[in-house]
Amino acid sequence: MSATRNPVPQDGQVPQDGQRDQSHPSDRLPAWQRVLVVVAHPDDESFGLGAVIDAFVTAGAQVEVLCLTMGEASTLAEGLSPQSVGELPAMRAQELARAADLLGVRRATLVRHPDGALGQQPAGALEADVEAAVDRVAPHGLVVFDTTGVTGHPDHAAASLAAEAVARRRGIPVVGWVLPDAVAASLRQEYGIGMDGVDPAAVSVDLRVSRDRQLQAIAAHRSQAVPGSVLWRRLELLGDHEYLRWIVEPPSGVAPN
Ligand SMILES: [Zn+2]
Repeated sequence: MSATRNPVPQDGQVPQDGQRDQSHPSDRLPAWQRVLVVVAHPDDESFGLGAVIDAFVTAGAQVEVLCLTMGEASTLAEGLSPQSVGELPAMRAQELARAADLLGVRRATLVRHPDGALGQQPAGALEADVEAAVDRVAPHGLVVFDTTGVTGHPDHAAASLAAEAVARRRGIPVVGWVLPDAVAASLRQEYGIGMDGVDPAAVSVDLRVSRDRQLQAIAAHRSQAVPGSVLWRRLELLGDHEYLRWIVEPPSGVAPN
């Protein structure tokens, strides 16, 4: 008998490389009753995390969203009149409120750090807002974009790193939303954009999702959900799966689900 543990393929999937010695990813979410989602922009909760949030809500969790900017630096602002640009933060806040309702989120809180410059904020500024949200929600776990930022936007990475820092201090587990390497590679190639994936061996949860409520929530972000966006291709490539990895694992001895 070899001492090496060979995972048994399930669902017809075969490990992609020889170094994979962990068990298969779970197909279930962590059993958290209260979940805090921390994102950078109004629409990240829908475009990126919509199906995952819906899965938590469907499983009975109370989900709150903390969004660290008003989204005022949207590239769409370039085509707007100065008056409309001034109205963009309020418009995006309304869109977030509507999307949160559609996803079954109990509360979405917007705080006004500068969109496009989250990474340049004073040390602790973002973490203070995450701390306040953690105090209010008392979450069993946090959900964020992977700490790479996933889509190449530095704000995403800054938001996730702030959430991770607070969670480590407070002993709260964190899962990060990830794209498998193959999906990220396709998007990079097709659109010529930055997109960070992970090796399949790094995926902790491979979740079967419904896109119905996510698509409704995406439609609520009317100023952002434009045709031809990479978003639609990403959803097509992911199909009915979303992938998560542990950024901060639960304390040892506590089953992740
Ligand atoms: Zn974003």
